[in-house]
Amino acid sequence: METTEPSCIYDSRDTLFARLDLIPGTSRYDEYYSQHPERKESDDTLRERGGLLRLIVAGALSVEKLGSLKTHHSDAARVLDLLTDEDLAQALMDDSSTTIEDYSRMDMARIPAARQVSLPRGEMSALIKEVAQLYGASLVGIAEMQDSDYYSHRRAGEPVTRHFRYAVVFAVPMERRLINRAPHRATLLATCNGYVDAARVGARLSGYIKSLGYDTSLNSMVHYDVPLVPLAEKAGLGQRGRCHFILTPQFGNRIRLGAVLTDLPLEPDSPADFGLIEFCALCGKCAVTCPSKALSGQPEIIDDRPRWRFDETKCFAMWTRFATDCGLCIASCPLSQCPDPAKVAVMKDQPDAMWEILREDRMRTRTR
Ligand code: SF4
Ligand code: SF4
Repeated sequence: METTEPSCIYDSRDTLFARLDLIPGTSRYDEYYSQHPERKESDDTLRERGGLLRLIVAGALSVEKLGSLKTHHSDAARVLDLLTDEDLAQALMDDSSTTIEDYSRMDMARIPAARQVSLPRGEMSALIKEVAQLYGASLVGIAEMQDSDYYSHRRAGEPVTRHFRYAVVFAVPMERRLINRAPHRATLLATCNGYVDAARVGARLSGYIKSLGYDTSLNSMVHYDVPLVPLAEKAGLGQRGRCHFILTPQFGNRIRLGAVLTDLPLEPDSPADFGLIEFCALCGKCAVTCPSKALSGQPEIIDDRPRWRFDETKCFAMWTRFATDCGLCIASCPLSQCPDPAKVAVMKDQPDAMWEILREDRMRTRTR
């Protein structure tokens, strides 16, 4: 369905990374900050410090070397520590973004089959979820889309005018051993691998849906029509917790998300409630661990439930100090550390089960 209605509540141009891409002296920069003067000073400060990539000098680590590191995970974390931060980060970023762009280009070149395959919605939904898992997704859900689920504009400024009826939203886990080395460089490898994995799953799933005769929009790191966190919540993958990201019962916040939008008739899932809000209220570990105090604000009460605040400027300022993407709020989260799934499955409305998960996490942290 085509729409030009500006009913969206999200605008990708407002995200921090899109703002930091604005170049002082250009008309886009002047136009944005004339509309948002309250953001100019703190954004200019971050820009002067340099973003993650701008901190990095040109790298000497080859993409081939990086590829060999990725295929030898057992040694990767140790080897990563031996590499200079700048070389590693540059190669990682270049390798990941090039690979994701390749997936995106490959997807855009495919056209939907002329004949549309038809199945009852429930069967088609089960098939699509199965295919997504066969392609490498660990969690999959379906959301029925409203206009308000879309960005009004993409990061570079073009309006999002094509709206599809459904989103197949999926998650891939990031490797725990690397994430647990936060805030060191090894986390960057886990993050980059996560983005690449999500792009690969999305491109293959998108190709499959096109083979059924339906067009798609692949949402991966290089192209977003939708903000993925609220969409994943809507598709039932998990709930948004104190750390501002979505947490799943299976992997906590140690995931990367992707989505394929389509008009293929599907059966939507319902949002999940596995007791996370109450768990976060007891836990608070990410807020205590966060070195920038980005998660320390008092929660707002929305629909009788707390929604914690997140100060992205403080968070990103810490990234520029660490020259990596920090990740302490992922590594410290008890739900990212493979707690007993039987206990997580029953923790809703069961404070004793929640305290037990927290107690086991304290013991695990001591021995880590
Ligand atoms: S990434 Fe680091 S600085 Fe940012 S919110 Fe998480 S713990 Fe805090
Ligand atoms: S660390 Fe605790 S409070 Fe923070 S998101 Fe994870 S469960 Fe919630």
